[in-house]
Amino acid sequence: MPFAIRIHQPGGPEVMRWEEVAVGDPAPGEARIRHQAVGLNYIDTYHRSGLYPLPLPAGLGMEGAGIVESVGAGVTDLVPGDRVAYAGGPIGAYCQVRCLPADRLLKMPDAVDFRTGAAMMLQGLTSAYLLRRTYRVQSGDAVLIHAAAGGVGLIVSQWAKALGATVIGTVSNETKAALARAHGCDHIIYYSREDVAQRAREITGGEGVAVVYDGVGKDTFMGSLDSLRVRGMMVSFGNASGPVAPFDPLLLMQKGSLFVTRPNLAHYTAKRDELLALGAELFDVVGSGQVRIEVNQTYPLADAANAHRDLEARKTTGSTILLP
Ligand code: NDP
Repeated sequence: MPFAIRIHQPGGPEVMRWEEVAVGDPAPGEARIRHQAVGLNYIDTYHRSGLYPLPLPAGLGMEGAGIVESVGAGVTDLVPGDRVAYAGGPIGAYCQVRCLPADRLLKMPDAVDFRTGAAMMLQGLTSAYLLRRTYRVQSGDAVLIHAAAGGVGLIVSQWAKALGATVIGTVSNETKAALARAHGCDHIIYYSREDVAQRAREITGGEGVAVVYDGVGKDTFMGSLDSLRVRGMMVSFGNASGPVAPFDPLLLMQKGSLFVTRPNLAHYTAKRDELLALGAELFDVVGSGQVRIEVNQTYPLADAANAHRDLEARKTTGSTILLP
């Protein structure tokens, strides 16, 4: 029988167990996939810790790439042997083999290998909707991206630069600063020791940035609001430092008629045509070389606990994959 990582209670990385699981034939509308690589994402730590509660016991993981082994009744656009990748629910990508809805799968272009496919789908589709849907970045915009050397960070930085933006990235150390600079950041702010809003205003001649992409959450939220230009857009899309505290909407008026949104990938890819369109835009910028996917860490899937430890300890850069 194939193996999977499962949790029986929320908690630290130690709650993850490597267990044998039965995987049946695909139901109507499903495909059975043999993973070649699985993506690691920060959201996996929220599911594991209970910040985003799951019915238990549960699998983990939202992203993978592999080979179609068989398809269920009614699936007409996939055949065994197809190379596919996906991001988003249903949760349970930390496994060797699984069945999942065929309409969540994207065929991978020949030029994209399995490791890159597993690394790029969730962080790449997220970058795509953040930059092209939530706030459509224009040439000349000043853009602030937090954790610029992270998985989403490196992709957003390169893509925003390719769109003609002035890219300001925050990082925690010099090594990450060099990496972020090499991937599109024009300016770096060390957010643990510098005043982010003050530096963002200096860089933009006092005006402030058009948009902040903030996946750090609790520690950065107020500084992000203070970095925005009048009628700027605050995109709070994650909680790496913890969830954002409740705030008074009057603040948005006082700080310049600001917009705030708290988006999620699932709401930008719920319809098959939305998923296909976003996927095509992502494969385009990766295929053209405008965005490079940096797989900077690789772990055996059975050792996912150590991958979680390193991600939460801020030891990783770029994307991370787990090998089944
Ligand atoms: P990253 O690779 O960016 O890892 C998180 C980074 O956050 C760290 O490397 C670290 O960078 C920074 N960070 C700042 N404060 C902390 C802290 N207290 N603890 C840990 N890390 C901290 O992860 P991902 O690219 O996978 O995800 C980035 C964010 O985007 C996450 O919040 C994730 O949940 C969110 N996300 C949201 C989606 C959505 O649709 N809403 C979809 C995908 C991701 P440094 O050391 O430079 O500070």
